[in-house]
Amino acid sequence: MQYPLPIARLIESYMKLPGIGEKTATRLAFYTLDMPADDVEQFAQSLKDVKTLLHQCSICGNITETDPCQICRDSNRDRSTVMVVEQPKDVMAFEEMGEYDGMYHVLHGVLSPMEGIGPEDINIKSLITRLQKDDDIKEIIIALNSTPEGESTAMYIAKLLKPAGLKVTRLASGLAVGTDIEYANSITLKRAVQGRIDL
Ligand SMILES: [Zn+2]
Repeated sequence: MQYPLPIARLIESYMKLPGIGEKTATRLAFYTLDMPADDVEQFAQSLKDVKTLLHQCSICGNITETDPCQICRDSNRDRSTVMVVEQPKDVMAFEEMGEYDGMYHVLHGVLSPMEGIGPEDINIKSLITRLQKDDDIKEIIIALNSTPEGESTAMYIAKLLKPAGLKVTRLASGLAVGTDIEYANSITLKRAVQGRIDL
């Protein structure tokens, strides 16, 4: 028997989420059918809002409702340091740590020749433009995950920035290989930032 089209479509949508197979998607779809209409309405609205209300900050690339983002607008932060991270989630992790008060630059990915992701696919160009325009920036901290892609992206950026006479550092190797920044605890992150090394 085939499911009615609205259910079939909802199952298909749920299956687009990571880690959700057909069985779970089917369960979720029928669960949604049983939910109060108000809850479903709110759920649908939240899904839309996350795409319509959030944008990339025109300065740092972090996700934000206002442009520039809260961090870029904060005049109390140290504008001489820019930490380069892969994802907005990494900014949250460093902010939660509460020790870093510099600026960020969010790449939205790392270089991956295997997946066809080149320099023009991530926010590297905007980083270079930003550095050319902003004389206050003295140090770039590269805070990418220690995956092969993260490593080669770090090297690529360091090579680009070195001739500009900027201090380029990376996090201390306190983070175990393969550990995601977003899952590292505050103490580990703090040590990694404090013990950063020159590239
Ligand atoms: Zn920003």
